[in-house]
Amino acid sequence: MFSAQMEYSDQVLEPFLSSETINFHYGKHHVGYANTLNSLIKETEFHKLPLEQIIIQSRSKHPKIFNNASQLFNHNFYWKCLKKACNAPSGKLLSLINKQFGSFDKFLEDYITFAGTMFGSGWSWLVEENGKLKFLNTSNAENPIGSDAHALCVIDLWEHAYYIDYRNNRADYISKIVTNCINWNFCESLLTI
Ligand code: MN
Repeated sequence: MFSAQMEYSDQVLEPFLSSETINFHYGKHHVGYANTLNSLIKETEFHKLPLEQIIIQSRSKHPKIFNNASQLFNHNFYWKCLKKACNAPSGKLLSLINKQFGSFDKFLEDYITFAGTMFGSGWSWLVEENGKLKFLNTSNAENPIGSDAHALCVIDLWEHAYYIDYRNNRADYISKIVTNCINWNFCESLLTI
């Protein structure tokens, strides 16, 4: 049985994300994906597979299972990427950022701009591919699992992630989260180089 993973209290990301947002986002959407996935895979070949394998093996063959498995993975990952007192990147991650973007501020600006180009529901990722950092936007439930791109960070761009707090101002949500709420230590710990 899969469960929705989130390890902090509802208020921890205020004022950037309200407890009402976290409550609905985690309690209704995220938990919903876990429950639906558990009932969809019961007595199928996906039962007992690790989540990443379910994503890879259901992609393009079993859309309902793929969507719920991917949304479960994406939300588990999203909450891990967020932290209130955002730490600046250091070590290898900072070296890569400086090499490719010139500075941390320029990197943040580019991530915010890139995420802002996403049309419709989806996710904006920071990935590592062949030793390089890249931004990647994916639609609906899609993610980089099973590709050469290795996820380091993600921002949820579905309306349910920001509408309670930011209404239609998605750009403000992206900017506030990327600037104030990313756990860069966690992202760095995922580097494969
Ligand atoms: Mn979401």
